[in-house]
Amino acid sequence: MKIHEYQAKSLLAQYGVPIPRGDVARTPEDARRIAEQIGARVVVKAQIHGGGRGKAGGIKTAKTAAEAEEVARSLLGTRLVTHQTGPEGLPLNAVLVEEAVEAERELYLSVLIDTSASVPVMIASEAGGMEIEEVAAKSPGKILKQRIGPVTGLLSYQARNLAYGMHVAPEQVRPATQIMAGIYQLFLQKDCSLVEINPLVVTADGRLLAVDAKVNFDDNGLSRHPEIAALRDASQEDPLEVEATNLGVNYVKLDGNIGCMVNGAGLAMATMDLVKLWGGEPANFLDVGGGASEDQVAGALKILLSDPKVKAAWVNIFGGILRCDLVARAIVRVLQETELGVPFVVRMNGTNLEEGMRLLKESGLDIMFESNLTEASKKAVAAAESAGEGT
Ligand code: GDP
Ligand code: MN
Repeated sequence: MKIHEYQAKSLLAQYGVPIPRGDVARTPEDARRIAEQIGARVVVKAQIHGGGRGKAGGIKTAKTAAEAEEVARSLLGTRLVTHQTGPEGLPLNAVLVEEAVEAERELYLSVLIDTSASVPVMIASEAGGMEIEEVAAKSPGKILKQRIGPVTGLLSYQARNLAYGMHVAPEQVRPATQIMAGIYQLFLQKDCSLVEINPLVVTADGRLLAVDAKVNFDDNGLSRHPEIAALRDASQEDPLEVEATNLGVNYVKLDGNIGCMVNGAGLAMATMDLVKLWGGEPANFLDVGGGASEDQVAGALKILLSDPKVKAAWVNIFGGILRCDLVARAIVRVLQETELGVPFVVRMNGTNLEEGMRLLKESGLDIMFESNLTEASKKAVAAAESAGEGT
């Protein structure tokens, strides 16, 4: 789960990380009031779940409170497109109004999981700012890493190594290592998947300030942190994915045109592999899980079919605890109430297969059955191809 910059900064502040003075505004008038309280030059920052705002015109400075109000008016209610959002952009419903900071240097600092070593890693760079991706590609030597032992935590020599490597002044080493300790605690205690400060600014008067912050969470840890789950902003997420979350099924939208509904993550991966093997592209990953109810299966199927990119649907179920007849009932229910515009392939096996097949056949619906997994995948790919040719 992602959160907004203003929410991320408030978490950072709870962990002792210095942040600029400021507040979030949802109306131009609020922006003016906040700017008046700050009483100095401010930055007005678009709050969307995506980076690259600086280059996309989502970060603007204002000299006066009246100007801050004008800038907020021009941003609020629009959609901001950045290189991270896709061409539709994301709705811009809030701005962060903050004191503008005089930046002497822009550093980079983050914690995430190093998946190759299965431990957290802290990453630091003296070349922070908007070009960090380019730095990583062209001068990887400027990206410093310290893997963190989950038992020992971030050791003080590791933090000092990073601070020295960023070439901060001697009097900034201690504040820098305190910020590192703070973000590691935040990462650990709130089950984050990423805590990133970019830029971590060195101000003209020698202070360190988190000018931008990004904090992402591991969805599987959210049940332990209701206060974090409450920060969710569904307006920033794909509507179909939000529906799936509410329904309690695992749905990830992908770029292809074959909608797959499967039970079990392993079978879902195998299903996508097969689709790709024959040259097809899955439109989604959808795992209804082992113990899904008829309503959940029906809801999941509706989500799958409401993706306009889907040119063929493939239901691939191994009936264990989830019985084939329950899946069949859900399919019949959904296909009878929605007009089926795409070829529909069903491959089922396992518990109550005969009853499931009987229900599907008696429904009279135009469904392709195939009990063999490989054959079913070929049918789904061929169906999507011929449907694609027709449009
Ligand atoms: P991003 O482009 O979405 O990562 O948004 P950031 O919050 O990182 O802002 C982009 C850039 O704007 C930063 O890298 C800074 O260079 C600059 N910036 C943002 N806020 C301030 C500020 O208060 N003072 C100064 N001098 N620069 C700022
Ligand atoms: Mn940034």
